[in-house]
Amino acid sequence: MSKEPEQEPAAENPEELLDLKITHPKDWAAGIPAVTVAMVDILKETGLVRGMEGLFHMNKKNGFDCSGCAWPDPDDDRSPIAEYCENGAKALAEEATTKKLTGEFFAENSVADLAKLNDYEIGKKGRIAQPVYLAKGATHYTPVSWDFAFKKIADELNALASPDEAAFYTSGRTSNEASFTYQLFVREFGTNNMPDCSNMCHESTGVGLADTIGIGKGTVTLNDFYDTDVIIIMGQNPGTNHPRMLSALEKAKEKGSKIIAVNPLHEAGLMGFKNPQKVKGFLGIKTQLADLYLQVKINGDMALLKAMEKLLYKAELENPGTVFDHEFIKKNTTGYVAFLDSLNQYEVDDLAKAAGLTVTEIEQAVNLIKNKSRIIICWAMGITQHKNGVAVVKEIVNLVMLKGAIGKPGAGLCPVRGHSNVQGNRTMMIWDKPKPKQLDKLKEVFGFEPPRGHGYDVVESIKAMDEGKLKVFFAMGGNFLSATPDTLFTAQAMRKLRLSVHISTKLNRSHLVHGEEALILPTLSRSDKDIVNGEEQFISCENSMGVVQMSKGMLKPVSEHLMNENQIVCNLAKATFGSRSVINWDKYAQSYDAVRDVIAKVIPGCEDYNQKVRLPGGFYLPNAAREGKFITEKNGSIIPFNIAPLPKHELAADEYHMATIRSHDQFNTTIYGLDDRYRGIHNERRVILMNENDMQKAGFKAREKVDLFNYDDWVERVARLFVVVPYNIPEGNTATYYPEANVLIPINSVAEQSNTPTSKLVTVKIRKHVV
Ligand code: SF4
Repeated sequence: MSKEPEQEPAAENPEELLDLKITHPKDWAAGIPAVTVAMVDILKETGLVRGMEGLFHMNKKNGFDCSGCAWPDPDDDRSPIAEYCENGAKALAEEATTKKLTGEFFAENSVADLAKLNDYEIGKKGRIAQPVYLAKGATHYTPVSWDFAFKKIADELNALASPDEAAFYTSGRTSNEASFTYQLFVREFGTNNMPDCSNMCHESTGVGLADTIGIGKGTVTLNDFYDTDVIIIMGQNPGTNHPRMLSALEKAKEKGSKIIAVNPLHEAGLMGFKNPQKVKGFLGIKTQLADLYLQVKINGDMALLKAMEKLLYKAELENPGTVFDHEFIKKNTTGYVAFLDSLNQYEVDDLAKAAGLTVTEIEQAVNLIKNKSRIIICWAMGITQHKNGVAVVKEIVNLVMLKGAIGKPGAGLCPVRGHSNVQGNRTMMIWDKPKPKQLDKLKEVFGFEPPRGHGYDVVESIKAMDEGKLKVFFAMGGNFLSATPDTLFTAQAMRKLRLSVHISTKLNRSHLVHGEEALILPTLSRSDKDIVNGEEQFISCENSMGVVQMSKGMLKPVSEHLMNENQIVCNLAKATFGSRSVINWDKYAQSYDAVRDVIAKVIPGCEDYNQKVRLPGGFYLPNAAREGKFITEKNGSIIPFNIAPLPKHELAADEYHMATIRSHDQFNTTIYGLDDRYRGIHNERRVILMNENDMQKAGFKAREKVDLFNYDDWVERVARLFVVVPYNIPEGNTATYYPEANVLIPINSVAEQSNTPTSKLVTVKIRKHVV
C-alpha cells in the first residue's frame, strides 16, 4: 500500500471546521430568496449601476451570453425583465467585480500564503489586472509586460524536443472565435494535445451518441419541451446547475407534460418551482415538477432502464403495436431481436433491486410512457461520470428507439451541458481526437500539414506530466487542478512542469500549484466591452441545443491591461512562429470577422457565419438526427441497439459509494458562497451526506467529524476532517462536494471508452476523525 504524496495544495486539509448549520431541505427551488441572494451578491461585488447594467444585457439578443451553464435562451419570447437565473447573476457578480489584483497585491501575498486560503477565499480576491510571472524559485508573482509573457512562452515552446511535450487545455468559457484560432495555433505548432473540460463531463455523451445516432450532441430544441408528453430527467440537478431549465419545465407542465425525475438525492429543483417572474411564484405558490420521483441508487440507472425496457416489452406483447414503434425500429435500427433476447436474462425484481427501487415504482414510470412517443430524456453528470457512462447513454438511446422518440417534434435526447460554450469549443475543433476529415480541411484552407495522431485528453495529460513527458502546460481558462481527479497526484504532476501558463480572469488554485515557472495572463470576461482598433467586437457561442449566437459585452473592463483570448492566441502564435508561419496572425488578431470568415470555410454548418451569427437569436447548427436522419461512421444510416451488461457493485461492510456534487453556491470550480440552501446545509462545505441507517450501523452521530479514505490501486487517498450530515440518500450511498473530495477520485478510475473520471462513483471508507 502506498500513500499519496505528502506535499499538497494547502488549505485542502484544514485543521478546523466552520460553524455548520443544518436546516430542513427544500422541496422547491428559486422563489424570492433566489432574487434576494442574487441581488446581494451583485451589490457587494459590482455596485448597483454596473450590476444592473450587466444584468439587463445578460442573455438578451443584443447582449452577452451568461458565462454560466449552456442552457439555451428562448428563440423568440425572451423576458423583458430578466433572462437569467440566480446563478447567472452570481456569475456576473464574480466576473464584473470591481476588486482587482494589481502588482501591490502580488507583492504583499506570496504564493505559499495564497495557497493557504480555500477556493472560496481565493476566488473572492478580485480580477487579475495585468500579466504576472513567477520566476524559477521565486516566492511571489511579479507584474510583467505582454511582450515578456509572449516571448517567455514562445522560447519555452520552441525549445521543446517535440511539440508533443506541450499540452493546451480549454475550459468551456472560451468563445468560438478564440477556440478556432487556438486550435489553429496548436495544430500549426504540431500537436493534438488539446485536453478540454468536456473530457471530464459529457465526453461519455459524445462517444455514446456519435456511436449510435451519428452526432455527439442532443437532438431537441427548447420548443420541443413545450410540445411533449413526458420528460425524463436523469442524473441532473437543474435547480442548481441549469436553473432557467425550471422555467421550461414549468411551461411544459402547464402544457400537460409529465415529468419523471431519476436521482439518488431528492433535489429541490426537480420537485417544485416558484417562478419569481410570475405572480404565482412571487406569492410563494409552487408548480409541482416531478410527477414521479425515482430515487435510484448511485449508478442504478442501467438497471432502471433495462427494467423499464423489459416491462415495456411485456406491455407490447400484451397489446402488439401499441407500445413499440415498429416502423421506426424497422427503418432505422439493427439488433432489435438480439437486444430483446438480451433482456431475457434478467428478472424485473432483480433489476429493481439493483436500481434501488420497487417494481411498483418502475411500473409507474412505464405506465407514464408506454402509450406515448413524444418523450424527451435529459441527463448530465449523474449519467456520464461512471465507468459505464457511455453504455448508459447508449441504453438511453435504446429506450428512445423502442419508442421511436427521436427525430420528431416533442421527442429526443437532451444532454444538458454545464459550461456556456463547452459544446462550441468542440464544434470549433478543440479536441484531442480530431477526425481526418477535419484535419484535411484545415490543410486545404491554410496550407500546412496538421498532426494526425491523437493527443492527450485530461487524464492522459496528467499522467504525461507525472511521467515527465509534458514540459509546458497552457490553459485557456478554467481551474485545472480543482476540476481534475486525484488532487494530490495531479498537484504533484503539475509541479513537474517546466512552465505552466493560465489565461484567466480571476485567481484560482491552479495558479498556486505550478511548474518551475508560471505565468497568469489576464483576459476579458464575457460582460467586458471588447474594443480592438477602436471598434467594438463581439464573439459567438453555441448552447446545449446547437444554437450559435453573438455575445457582446458592454461593461468597462477593470484594467486597461486585459487582452481578449483571441488576441492572446494570435500574439502568441506570432511570437512562437515568427516568419515561419503560413498564417496571417495579424489579420485574425485585428478582426473577429476575419476569424469568422475562416470558420465559415472550415467548420460544417458555419457557412456564411458572419451573416448568420448577426441574426437576432443566432442560428441552429445542422443536426441530422434531429430531423430523423442518422448518419453514423460505423453503421451508415442505421442505429445499432447496444447490449451492455449490468454493472457489478460489491461493497465491504465498511465501504460506501460516494458521488461528488455541487452546492447551490457553486458553479463548476467557482465557489460563490458557503451555503447549499436547497439541501439545508449552511456555512460549511466539508460535509458528507449519509443515510441515517448507515450512520447508525457505523456508530456515527449527526455532525460526527470523520476522515474519508479510498484504496483503489493499492494507494491510500485521504480527505481529512469532514462532518457527517444525515440525509435522504439511499443506503450504501454518500455524497460530498467537489473540489474538496476530488482528492479521493483515483486517476485510473475512468469511464470505458470516454476516459471521463468517475466522479459520481468512488468507493470510500469513513472513519472517525483522528486529530
Ligand atoms: S440557466 Fe445557466 S446560462 Fe442561464 S442564466 Fe442561469 S447559469 Fe446562466
